[in-house]
Parts: sequence; C-alpha cells; structure tokens
Amino acid sequence: MSTGFSTTTRRVRTRRGVVWLGQTCNLRCRFCYFQTRVATREHPDHPFMSLEKARAICSTLRGHYGNTAVDIQGGEPTIYPRIEALVAHCREIGLLPTLITNAVAMDDPQRCRRLKEAGLRDLLVSVHGLGAAYDEAVGLAGAHARQMKALDNLAAEAIPFRLNCVLAASVLPDLAAIARLAVERGARVMNFIAFNPFEDQQGGRTGQDVPRYSEVAGPLADALDFLEENGLEANVRYLPLCAAKPRHRKNFYNFQQLPFDLHEWDYASWSWSGRNPQRRKDGDLEPPITLREANHRSKLFGHEGYLADPSVSVEDEYRHSALIRAREHCGYSFAPACQACALKDICDGFHGDYSGLYGAGEAHAQELTDFSGPAGDPRRFIREQVKIVEDEDASWAL
Ligand code: SF4
Repeated sequence: MSTGFSTTTRRVRTRRGVVWLGQTCNLRCRFCYFQTRVATREHPDHPFMSLEKARAICSTLRGHYGNTAVDIQGGEPTIYPRIEALVAHCREIGLLPTLITNAVAMDDPQRCRRLKEAGLRDLLVSVHGLGAAYDEAVGLAGAHARQMKALDNLAAEAIPFRLNCVLAASVLPDLAAIARLAVERGARVMNFIAFNPFEDQQGGRTGQDVPRYSEVAGPLADALDFLEENGLEANVRYLPLCAAKPRHRKNFYNFQQLPFDLHEWDYASWSWSGRNPQRRKDGDLEPPITLREANHRSKLFGHEGYLADPSVSVEDEYRHSALIRAREHCGYSFAPACQACALKDICDGFHGDYSGLYGAGEAHAQELTDFSGPAGDPRRFIREQVKIVEDEDASWAL
C-alpha cells in the first residue's frame, strides 16, 4: 500500500501559505504566544473572521502567490464554525489544506469524517506534554485523553498527521515519550519548537517554564536519535545551531533554513497574510505585495535603490526576509562568542527574549574545517536531512 509520500534530500523552496482565522481557542496553553488575544474577547485579533474573508485570503495565496498548500490556524481552526466549507474551498482551488490544531475537538469521529470528506489534507497536532502534565499546561482537565482519542479517530479515517511540540520546561520530562508516541501512532513528521517567550508573553515572562538551551540539549538529542533510528523526519526550530550535536545540525532550522522545509511558510505570502488586516475579522484586505516590497519596509533593506536593484536575486530576497524576521521581528542577536563562529552566516544567534532572560553565555563558537566561510549556504547542513515529500508535491519537489 502507498504511504502517500516519498523521501528526499533535495531542498527546494516551500509553496505553503498560512492563514490565521482569529485568536479564538478551546484551550488556554500556558505558553501560547497569543494568550492575551485568546483570553480577551474585545481584542481585535480575537474573533473569528467571516468565511468570505478567509476564502478571499486563501484565493490570494493560490492565485497571486502561487501557493499549493496552506496551514489554517486559529486560535483553534477545528472550532471555526465554517471550517468544512473553508477546507472544501481550499481543496477546490488547489491549495491543499492543513489544520494546525490541538485536535481536542477531533475526539468526535463525525467531525473527523466531515473534514476528510470536505478535502482535508492533513493535521499538524500540537502535543505539549502527556497525561496530567498536558491537561495542566493547556488548562483543561481531560484534554490529553481527548487528544489521544483524536489520534485514534485520525487512524480510523486514514487522515495523515504530523506532530508539533513546544520545548517548555514542563514538556522536557515527556520528550522521550512524545517521540515514542510519534513513532507508534504513525506521525509523518515530528517538530520541536524552542519556547522563546515573545508576542503576548513579552513582559509577563517569569522564566518558570522557559528552560535554558543547555537544559533542552540532552533530552532533545536523545529524542532526535530515537526518531532517526525509527526513520521519522524530525525538525528543530529557533534554537541556535551550537545547541545541536554535530550529527543533528541537519535537523536544525533557523530563519534562513525555514524556506527549504515544505511544511513551513513561504516568506512572500506570509509577508502579506501575516499583517493585521489579513488576521482580523474587521477591516478590508490589503492589496498583495511582493517579498521585495515587504523587505523594503524594514530598517535593514529600506534604503533607496533596493526595490530596483538588479543584483538582488530571489534567493537573496528570501535571505533578506530571514534576516528581518530574526533581527527586527524577534530581536535575535549574536553573543561575543558568535564573532569567531564558522556558522554565524547561517545561524540566527540567540532569541531576543531568551537572551533578555538568561543572556547569551551558552553560545559557543563552532569550528568547521570544510566550511565555506562567510558565504555560507543555509542548506549546508539541512541538505543532508532525509525529508518527506507528499505525493501531491512530487512533480516539483523531488
Ligand atoms: S553563531 Fe553564535 S549562536 Fe550561532 S552557532 Fe555560532 S556561537 Fe552559537
């Protein structure tokens, strides 16, 4: 029987867009980047947008940006009242729909069946702990049991899924078990995401649930080895490259590497759909902009002549966008140790909020005898990683 995917080490740019329906959710995750917006009904980002607006955004992702897949997220997209109609629209226009979800509401088999019939491609399920630790982290008694029931339902309906796990301190004791869960339940991919407390977490952070990178490194390396042994693609996002064992550098994605993961977001369309008018119920959609135009709005690339500079390639535009996201949006910065590091040109350094909390003393310069120096290719390590390509993407991604 076909698995529905192949594997490859070829790295091409993603064609996946993203739409935020509104910050309405059935859980209250302690480490949610949008927790204020989720908890505050009056916040302009809180309510779900209309189906008409969501459809228009998705049509722009497909028609203007040429995206062939979309991550639909809320808040929690499975509780969006018109989710099946939106999924059906995406499928109809050639924008294969994924839901980024806690999956708790998918404990209802009928909901799973309806979404599959509407044209759902797959789910990216957030598993931030197991058992009572998960219930506590997400603020809902019984949530873990419901999530596990949802995984049963996905198997029964043959709906593919991948897993996401935020590396909060409360999650680390469960990391090995979550990796086992991914293998035993047949996840296609396992992602680990550094807990960098930004967006709504800014100001309210205590450090209580933010582990130091050096505390994450051991359990993470064990989980990555286990997943590798079992042939499961694993990705780590937003951790400095020196937090990786050399054998795991291929699994680490900073902003410069992200466009080469087909399950991550296209910086061009994200630069448009991530702006407030496209993330809110109220207000008209903005006209689409090019990635070059989006870059030109930044301090880094706002200089005269950038828009028409013929020496800037498309590849450059994506690297520039990566720099803007790291330096201007998230306040990443380099530590003194980074100045002597061979990976500096392809590493984001330390997240601004993290270094604000703990400093950047854990940075340690990396040496490479075979490294190409300042003009480092972001694919230098990730091109050694075996990744999946779903059958629908085989014609352009394999
Ligand atoms: S550039 Fe800095 S943060 Fe990145 S790997 Fe090198 S020492 Fe670590």
